[in-house]
Amino acid sequence: MPKLIKLNCPNCNAVLEVDSDRNQLFCSYCGQKILLVDDEVKVVNVNIRKTVNVNKTVKNVNVDEAGVKKAEAEIRRVSFEEKKYASELRRKNTKIVFMIFLVIAGVLLTTSGFSGLWNDKNANEIAMSLGMFITLLPFLAWMIEVKRSR
Ligand SMILES: [Zn+2]
Repeated sequence: MPKLIKLNCPNCNAVLEVDSDRNQLFCSYCGQKILLVDDEVKVVNVNIRKTVNVNKTVKNVNVDEAGVKKAEAEIRRVSFEEKKYASELRRKNTKIVFMIFLVIAGVLLTTSGFSGLWNDKNANEIAMSLGMFITLLPFLAWMIEVKRSR
């Protein structure tokens, strides 16, 4: 069972109480690091400046690790953006090809209706209106997209 040990801080001489099972503590008055050797009040004075130096080194290591992690994250982000841009470009190209195909098909269908290619008068009219609709469809889609992106 741990018992309380009373000791004086070697730096500021303040009276401190500590559990006997602990082997180090910091003075609550001046921040001095104190090592407890053995079970008894054998106090080893640890230089404050040395403690500060250790902390600084640890901090530097942390900063370097954070920098590396940040750089890695940046590389990941850039490659992700590149992939996203490439797939967007591919999708855009596919869309343009599809729209050109629609316009050509629409114009052909409209022309066929105009020139009376179909035997039936109704069929010619249907071909004309359907053709015009198909021709206008890409323009409608384009207009909607422009409006939405604003
Ligand atoms: Zn102290």
